[in-house]
Amino acid sequence: MTLDATHDPDLKSWVESADGHPEWPIQNLPLGVFSTAGKGARIGTAIGEKILDLRAIAERGLIEDEDVAEALRSRVLNALFALGADAMADLRARLSVLLSDEAHRAEVEPHLVAMDATEMQLPTHVGDYTDFYVGIHHATNVGKVFRPDNPLLPNYKYVPIGYHGRASSIRVSGHPLVRPSGQVKAPDAEVPVRRPSARLDYELEMAIWIGEGNALGEPIPIEEAGQHIAGYGLLNDWSARDLQGWEYQPLGPFLAKNFLSTVSPWVITPQALAPFMKPMKPRPDGDPAPLPYLTGGEEKCALGVRLEVLLTTAKMREAGEAPYRLSKGEADAAMYWSAQQVVTHHASNGCNLQPGDLLGTGTLSMADEDGFGSLLELSKAGKQPIALPNGETRTFLEDGDEVTLVARCEADGAVPIGFGKCAGQVLPARG
Ligand code: MN
Repeated sequence: MTLDATHDPDLKSWVESADGHPEWPIQNLPLGVFSTAGKGARIGTAIGEKILDLRAIAERGLIEDEDVAEALRSRVLNALFALGADAMADLRARLSVLLSDEAHRAEVEPHLVAMDATEMQLPTHVGDYTDFYVGIHHATNVGKVFRPDNPLLPNYKYVPIGYHGRASSIRVSGHPLVRPSGQVKAPDAEVPVRRPSARLDYELEMAIWIGEGNALGEPIPIEEAGQHIAGYGLLNDWSARDLQGWEYQPLGPFLAKNFLSTVSPWVITPQALAPFMKPMKPRPDGDPAPLPYLTGGEEKCALGVRLEVLLTTAKMREAGEAPYRLSKGEADAAMYWSAQQVVTHHASNGCNLQPGDLLGTGTLSMADEDGFGSLLELSKAGKQPIALPNGETRTFLEDGDEVTLVARCEADGAVPIGFGKCAGQVLPARG
């Protein structure tokens, strides 16, 4: 991924609110789907405090490529993603010109919508969702809870571990989380009971959106994996730990995970992230090298993305208090496997990925406690309550709690960009 005119730190948009905007300067240009009262869902890009209606731009004849213009008339991003990385890079270049060159202002400006008058939608029709487990500190921390003598299983450093999740229960940021009920068995109990989860948790993850797919039976070489990634976002893989502990063996996560997964609405493209990508950190001494099919590819494939988890309890909300930061960290420091490696691994048996599919990285925890990406880790599996500034404590989530994931990229010589947010509030169980 090379830098070009769209990354120029001196480039400014004629949209005034974009200049110095913490998330949506002209160097970002994320893709999303929005709706306004009375109008159906449309594809747009965020620019400052506005959203540019890309359907309208295409209909005005401002996008030359006919396939791209047609894809922008859709209500989801799948058709655009299917056109591949080059078409998306060309679209970015065009949007950068339309939003920076004063000559285009008169024809483009009428198609800007105030962001606060819109509602964001899921960016794609998600055909399939797979969650990985690339956060090695998380894998080790969780392994210690379930298997104190044997935290990291021997396959971890060879196989990017994942499981097939459920697409139907993916929702965009803001959708509430109804506390799930399910089977729970206390360690000293003979038999399980069914009740509302008492160990409801979040998982800080990044979303990887699949661009161009691969045909069934045709693996994706590691050198080409980046071409199949349309972009990135934030993902909260809500988890009911008490359900999980009882059901997870032998086939892995099921009802402890599939009651809701929340994504941030904006797709941050690989082009936007180019100035912030880093080389993968070398593996620690003594770790095996990845097998050849997972070796090579782009030199800079580690995500230089700063992540934060914020908590607002009902009491804090009533008192008008600011959210409390539960953790902070960097994606590249947490990820043992890159996004490219998980894409290549997923397709390595010939499994076909399709445009708009969603992959989760797995929980991204830092080595240190202030960067743990779940309450299971922060509260030491519920043994060590977290003290909040207002005197409340938490081991797991309570009704009324709101969890918000945010992310940001900063690097020398680049204009910082943001990801928007991935938020959800816990509602009481319904039985
Ligand atoms: Mn997960």
